[in-house]
Amino acid sequence: MRRVVTTPNTRIAVPQRTCIGCRQTRPQSELVRCAVNQHGAQVGRTAAGRGAWLCSMTCYHTAVQRKAFDRSWKRSLPADALLSLGDSLRAAMNDTNLNDTNLNDTDLNDTDMKESSVVGIAPDNTTPRKG
Ligand SMILES: [Zn+2]
Repeated sequence: MRRVVTTPNTRIAVPQRTCIGCRQTRPQSELVRCAVNQHGAQVGRTAAGRGAWLCSMTCYHTAVQRKAFDRSWKRSLPADALLSLGDSLRAAMNDTNLNDTNLNDTDLNDTDMKESSVVGIAPDNTTPRKG
């Protein structure tokens, strides 16, 4: 007796991508691609340029804070370019129905120091001077 082994569609190769925010590998379809080129940063699967992948707006903020974009793209973008990229990302993620529970808009300038390990500059400017 012969067993007929049918393995046509059992293994569908889903392209995996790593989110630059949380560093988790996910199916490409769950991530949003950003690319940088001479026009600046853009969102889109087909955008020309080097790609960086994000799974949520939270990860976008994380990536900005960790300068993960700079590392992925091997260049640093001006802050306003990153902000407009964030707007495009938000729109793209609403589009793809990713649930973003983080509704409060995190101000990038107002980093929460509770968890992130900031390289310490001690607030030690109160050296008393004599004379
Ligand atoms: Zn992520």
